[in-house]
Amino acid sequence: MDNLELLSEYGTFLREKKEEGKKIVAFISHDNIPEELIDAAGFVPLRLMFAGNDDLMDSSHDYLPPSTCAFAQSCIGLFSQKPDQYNFLELVDFFIVSNHCVSDICASEIISKYFNISRLNFYISYTKNENSMKYFKLELIDLKKQLENIIGYKIEDEIIKKSIKKYNSFKKKLLELSLLNIKGSEKLKILQSAMLYGPSFLPKLESFIQKYNGSQILTSKGLKDILLTGGSIFIGDHLIDLIEEGGGNIIYLDTWIGNNYYSQIYEDTILDSMENPCDLLVQRFKNNIFGDHSVPNFLENKISQIEKIYLDHKKKTGRKLGIINHIIKFCDHISIMSTHLKNKLQEKGIQVLNLERDYSRAIRGQLNTRIEAFLEMI
Ligand code: SF4
Repeated sequence: MDNLELLSEYGTFLREKKEEGKKIVAFISHDNIPEELIDAAGFVPLRLMFAGNDDLMDSSHDYLPPSTCAFAQSCIGLFSQKPDQYNFLELVDFFIVSNHCVSDICASEIISKYFNISRLNFYISYTKNENSMKYFKLELIDLKKQLENIIGYKIEDEIIKKSIKKYNSFKKKLLELSLLNIKGSEKLKILQSAMLYGPSFLPKLESFIQKYNGSQILTSKGLKDILLTGGSIFIGDHLIDLIEEGGGNIIYLDTWIGNNYYSQIYEDTILDSMENPCDLLVQRFKNNIFGDHSVPNFLENKISQIEKIYLDHKKKTGRKLGIINHIIKFCDHISIMSTHLKNKLQEKGIQVLNLERDYSRAIRGQLNTRIEAFLEMI
């Protein structure tokens, strides 16, 4: 299925949900937004995970300067332009304003304010200590109250637990998907669809995994193994095609659309024993030490995580893993740490390409050249 078909079918899916009386809650796609609470309120979480283009970025400049990150620019552009394939954005009832980064909060506030979408607030501490855990719990309780005010009744703990279990099973399957030995673009395509639809995609995900379990990518094809870190590859982005055309194959997605999303799963015994479901969500926030939402030692955690994956991969396959650090232009979270990340990993003999780009068409040739040169080096 190509992207246009995916978006068109997703539009139909959302329209059906609206006809069933469900409200749609959109948010910018990073970590830590508790989809389970939205689901438990009977709403449909809509993760903004769409790549931009020149027109979308340009149209955001009425609201924010061009030095805003290209992804946040494009999110604003989607609401200001509402291109045909995205007309389902008309259906959004609420927008979560959160503070993953400055661009996230600015873009979310603008979308809510200028496109008349009611706002829900969910703020996240930039530190991880006892007080930030308490704060995260207070924010969960507050978001729950905001949702309860809309629906007009209390969301029972049992319903939240059910949602947590549903998402947990879904993430378990995504983890299985991530381990399939298939082309990175195929894996990414199904992962993007799954994260867009959420757990209702589970049957399709299961049949995909069943179909491709045991598939092999022949090393004789000469594909170079790649770990993608930094910014996600969103729906409609051609970056993964450029990597594959250049002879690379992404086997590990260390991004929001990837490992950050499905790395934390829980055994049923833990889920069954949870008393207050919010505590489990707090625990997940606490354990999210590899996400870029600044936490103490984030960069050290990230470097040791990548080194471990690199060494495990080499031991298992005898092959090197090249690291592409994807920097969406003006994404301070990723760019500010990119030189240190590269230097530290290269000191350990791990090759890294810091690949900064926006969504303009003109940059494609330049990206191609840089990716090919890097892949030749591995
Ligand atoms: S600056 Fe980075 S983290 Fe923030 S919205 Fe843009 S891509 Fe996401």
